[in-house]
Amino acid sequence: MLEAGGRNTSLKTIMPGMMPFQTDRTNWRFETVPQPGLNGRRGYQPRGKGLGGSSAINAMLYIRGHSQDYDEWRDLGCPGWGWDEVLPWFRTSEHNVRGADAFHGENGPLWVSDQEHAHPGSRAFVEAASRLQIPVNPDFNGVQQEGVGLYQVTQKGGERWTAARAYLPPGQRDNLEIICDALVDRILFTDGRASGVAYRLAGEAREIRARRAVVLAAGAFQTPQLLMLSGIGPGAHLAEMGIEVRLDRPAVGSDLQDHIDYVAAFETEGSFFLGRSPIGTLKSLGAMAQWLLTRRGGMTSPFAEAGGFLRTELAGARPDVQLHFLIAIVEDHGRTKVKGHGYSCHACVLRPESRGTVRLQSPDAASAPLIDPAFLSDPRDMEVLKAGVRAMYRILDTPPLADYKGRDRYPIDLADDAALESLIRARADTVYHPVGTARMGSDEAAVVDPRLKVRGVDGLYIADASVMPRLIGGNTNAPSIMIGERAAAFLCEA
Ligand SMILES: Cc1cc2nc3c(=O)[nH]c(=O)nc-3n(C[C@H](O)[C@H](O)[C@H](O)COP(=O)(O)OP(=O)(O)OC[C@H]3O[C@@H](n4cnc5c(N)ncnc54)[C@H](O)[C@@H]3O)c2cc1C
Repeated sequence: MLEAGGRNTSLKTIMPGMMPFQTDRTNWRFETVPQPGLNGRRGYQPRGKGLGGSSAINAMLYIRGHSQDYDEWRDLGCPGWGWDEVLPWFRTSEHNVRGADAFHGENGPLWVSDQEHAHPGSRAFVEAASRLQIPVNPDFNGVQQEGVGLYQVTQKGGERWTAARAYLPPGQRDNLEIICDALVDRILFTDGRASGVAYRLAGEAREIRARRAVVLAAGAFQTPQLLMLSGIGPGAHLAEMGIEVRLDRPAVGSDLQDHIDYVAAFETEGSFFLGRSPIGTLKSLGAMAQWLLTRRGGMTSPFAEAGGFLRTELAGARPDVQLHFLIAIVEDHGRTKVKGHGYSCHACVLRPESRGTVRLQSPDAASAPLIDPAFLSDPRDMEVLKAGVRAMYRILDTPPLADYKGRDRYPIDLADDAALESLIRARADTVYHPVGTARMGSDEAAVVDPRLKVRGVDGLYIADASVMPRLIGGNTNAPSIMIGERAAAFLCEA
């Protein structure tokens, strides 16, 4: 196994509350090309680097999506991927502290825990929503997804439980060698079959051979990048980059889908919510000490503690908007440091119609790919986002949350359609769920077949979020892990 980053064993990874403090060592920190739908702004696209990938820097929320999302995959030409067929794999992967039932597993490697230290502000969010007759949902991955509640998190005993901690043994294993700080440059082929990869380690070019197969799991941006660097992708674009075309496959790097998201932010008096102030710093230091001694307390927080799935007036049977309530002020993904205390709430479009692309900006794997999510290029996404923001504000304006008297940092008349649209264009961005750039399907154009083998090339598989034919209605870590489980099973059978 080759990984461009490090081992991710430090406190920065393991202590959940260190999430906002990632560096270039653990985060690729990509940016998008300027987005016309966002007033020409460049979006931010954090991606995890190092063992565990984005599960080492994410918010740890354990969500699978809606059962009908997978039935939709099946109906789009992915036999074997309907809800009834993927559910056993979710259960296999899961170790839920609540125990097993029809929806959950308790013997898998991926620990899923309840938040033991949810902030009272998060509970106030849930209570406010329930006063609006929105159902309180104790399990978004159970009988129904709709409703509000506290999220379960991928943690074990108060520590972040990355995909690597779940699946990679801490010691040596006879049939696995892990090489970190190894940037894969391209796939190697012998007689048309994937037979290894070229990579660089400490500046030195190397090659490694695969007897059976090569599996790409570089994520929704870098898996298509590696395919294109290996001559598999849109032929004209590869020719432009001076890359010999091995397989003209326009779907590589196409069909990029991501959750466009608006964050409302509120300032409060005092230090009840988290924030930047002398007292905030003291509280954080106290929480760190508590975590170091007991693995409990404020540093176990995913910050996005509460949230839910709503059906706006534009929704069909499935919720069309997800909320994430945060116990701190978030500006520009936390990159802009704001003084003072407060809370924030995200609203995102769960099934965007906009489709974007990932392309190469250079034939060098070390260059960031050109990422164009084409956010809000389909006007239907703006309509859903406006409905979602309005629904979110109804909750934020309801006691007991409203009793905290947060001062809205971006107040507008929400009834004014034009004002809301322009606020969204000025402030919306991703909530970090890009997928679809190596889409699975049975049609000629699909990148991988329903057994995750790259169509038209032998010995090459993909096992990550890029294969999702449609973005699921929820956070994408658990579904990516489910895809990994299935890839392993397919490989064993191949
Ligand atoms: C800030 C943030 C918050 C999120 N919050 C949540 C959440 O709370 N819940 C949730 O369900 N989802 C969340 N997600 C999304 C979720 O983490 C991802 O969907 C999931 O991890 C994707 O898995 P993946 O295997 O497709 O790719 P990744 O996890 O991104 O893994 C790709 C790996 O490939 C490596 N790599 C890339 N290129 C190369 C190369 N050329 N050579 C060698 N190695 C390479 C990378 O370093 C990385 O380790 C979040 C994501 C982010 C960024």
